[in-house]
Amino acid sequence: MVQDCKCCQVETDCIDGLCEMCSDYNYKLQKQVDLLILGLLQEKREVATIKDRLNNMKYATNSKEFRSGYNAGLTAYAWWKEGVQYVGTCGTTLKKALNLKGDS
Ligand SMILES: [Zn+2]
Repeated sequence: MVQDCKCCQVETDCIDGLCEMCSDYNYKLQKQVDLLILGLLQEKREVATIKDRLNNMKYATNSKEFRSGYNAGLTAYAWWKEGVQYVGTCGTTLKKALNLKGDS
């Protein structure tokens, strides 16, 4: 039975209501959509992985081990001037730097 293509409504040589051209086009479109969805899912997974890593880093930087290493590092590079310990060259005292460790 001859029927118009329900997609382009021009061609009449149809299989399942779609001409060969539209059927091919829709197939390709569907493939593109599938690929886009796969890409989005992939990105979603990557975002989740990055979130996990950030959380782990956050956890690590809040750990006792990190804090004691951070404090030891700051102290190792502190220098004395008139009885006060400083870190860096901007007048930050070691005391202040150690107190800033938890800020973010
Ligand atoms: Zn068609």
